[in-house]
Amino acid sequence: MSGRNVLVINSGSSSIKFALVNEDQDEFIIEGLAERIGSPEAEVTWKQNGEKKHLSFPNADHSEALAQILPYVQEAAGHLDAIGHRVVHGGSQVHKACHLTPEVVSIIEQNASLAPLHNPPGLMGIEAAQKLYPELPHVGVFDTAFHQTMPDYAYRYAIPEELYTEHGIRRYGFHGTSHLYVSRKGAEMAGKPVNDSCWLVAHLGNGCSATAVVNGESRDTTMGLTPLEGLVMGTRSGDVDPSLQIHLHRTFGYSAQCVETLLTKKSGLLGVSGLSNDMRTLIEASEQGNEKAALAIEIFCYRLAKSLAALSCALPRLDGLLFTGGIGENATLIRKKTLDHMRIFNFKLDDAANQACTRGTGGTISAEGHPLVLVVPTNEERQIANETLAVVDAN
Ligand code: ADP
Repeated sequence: MSGRNVLVINSGSSSIKFALVNEDQDEFIIEGLAERIGSPEAEVTWKQNGEKKHLSFPNADHSEALAQILPYVQEAAGHLDAIGHRVVHGGSQVHKACHLTPEVVSIIEQNASLAPLHNPPGLMGIEAAQKLYPELPHVGVFDTAFHQTMPDYAYRYAIPEELYTEHGIRRYGFHGTSHLYVSRKGAEMAGKPVNDSCWLVAHLGNGCSATAVVNGESRDTTMGLTPLEGLVMGTRSGDVDPSLQIHLHRTFGYSAQCVETLLTKKSGLLGVSGLSNDMRTLIEASEQGNEKAALAIEIFCYRLAKSLAALSCALPRLDGLLFTGGIGENATLIRKKTLDHMRIFNFKLDDAANQACTRGTGGTISAEGHPLVLVVPTNEERQIANETLAVVDAN
């Protein structure tokens, strides 16, 4: 097989997403997901040559799960040239993808308290893969790196300075790999040079964030110190009055752990609807008259519109709005409702184009004579593979 192969690994607390990416092929050679790691039901499923494969490995930890998966990846690849690891939080120290040296691994450890659900499992994946493939280059691609270009007035909170200088408390932003990929792809689709283009990007998946991108750089984003700030998400509340937490504690005796679980796992679309965190389920329920599902959708769209309008302050002009992520790429209703709230911007969708852009089909969905709106399917694995190879080439 010609072209280099990169294995992309994205480790979660009980899952590992992986993809084998060849630099010369559009399709991934293998794409899979190991789930319920550490439990008796631990299993992996993957797609190879259009075929679905499955393997159980009861009670396997991250290291054992990877050890079981990698021989299949190796066999399919023939040769492996590098491993790219998705890392969520690199703090202020990491501005771009880099080799996972002991110093960089230590930075990921130092930032674990800021991303307790993401950095520790990421480290497990890195350690396991480095042990299995010590001779290969291992590169970290960080969700926070793209947002390191935000100006201080966008990333600082209005709280005493020492919290920033001594404890690194500031806004970092996440989903950077997707925002970067989508803003570049959007510029390409619109025929504009990346270094002279201004976008609002809405990444709407289970986690949701929006970013203002100017000339290929992030200028502001909705997520902050952690991935809880900003938009309404599947199970995360997004912005609430910061006093809510104090109120819940003081008046109702909620512990810190309880508040964290409430705001990260039981809120958002799930919390409002009482039904599901899944937008497809909510749209269906709302069409059948479920009022709570309908309200969850209304809050989601209004808050998204409000955040996009706020982010426009970071742009010198607007070349277009880009939708991506599972909801952004598929939910025609959500795109329409959101733009209906932004009348001042003069957005208008072409209904047929909006309906046509789903299931991986991207394109222009705005009506002629109105500001550009594009659906741009994201591809974080491709972006991680590209950045991994760029780091390898630079050495
Ligand atoms: P993750 O952030 O886990 O990668 P995705 O980007 O896959 O998540 O997005 C998942 C979300 O996309 C879910 O809320 C799902 O319901 C939504 N979604 C996927 N397809 C559709 C669809 N056809 N219509 C509405 N929502 C959809």
